[in-house]
Amino acid sequence: MSIQENLSRLRATIPAGVTLVAVSKTWPAEAVLQAYDAGQRVFGENRVQELVAKAADLPGDIQWHLIGHLQRNKVRQVLPHVALIHSIDSTELLERVDREAGQLGRRVDVLLQVHIAQEEAKTGFSYPEAEALLQGGQLAGYRNVTVRGLMGVATFTDNMAQVKAEFEGLHALYAKVREAGWLNPSEFNVLSMGMSGDYQLAIACGATMVRVGSLIFGHRDYGAGA
Ligand SMILES: *Cc1c(COP(=O)(O)O)cnc(C)c1O
Repeated sequence: MSIQENLSRLRATIPAGVTLVAVSKTWPAEAVLQAYDAGQRVFGENRVQELVAKAADLPGDIQWHLIGHLQRNKVRQVLPHVALIHSIDSTELLERVDREAGQLGRRVDVLLQVHIAQEEAKTGFSYPEAEALLQGGQLAGYRNVTVRGLMGVATFTDNMAQVKAEFEGLHALYAKVREAGWLNPSEFNVLSMGMSGDYQLAIACGATMVRVGSLIFGHRDYGAGA
């Protein structure tokens, strides 16, 4: 199955209004170009170095999303190339992004990553931390970042009931922010959740953006491409 075929099969399962982020991490520029030629314009990378290198090599109308942990000392490097940062996981990082974006004279869209999984390793704000930040009004003080929504990574498990509960929990916070008007709902309108194994469930739970890698590019473990 080619990347192009994988993409068109996948697209047939994604409703209009849900954005597909093609996660191209670890795949070479040629693979990204195949997806690009099939019409894909939004790509996700989890490492700054790789995002910056690919952005330099590939067409300028690609929107690059950073989906992996962002170290504070890499903020400056990534900002000129990134359309959306999914992985803001601390107020320190948010402050840093705001400051550096200001110095570059640009405004950057970000999502707050919320820790929804049971695994310890997954980063992100806890629910109480995220809620305090979203409700508290201090986000208005960041002049150079726009918080566009929330992102979460579910527990890596076959237990779909658990994954569903995690997605529903994140959707509940997303809906609360919008309904309570803590942030302007026409700006705070992105809920990024769901990967190859669970994107359909995520969409059923209200995701507006899904991050899919293996179903498009193949399983890295086998090195076989698509
Ligand atoms: C790798 C990755 C994805 C895509 O995973 P697949 O299972 O290959 O679709 C999505 N989100 C994040 C944060 C990732 O690191």
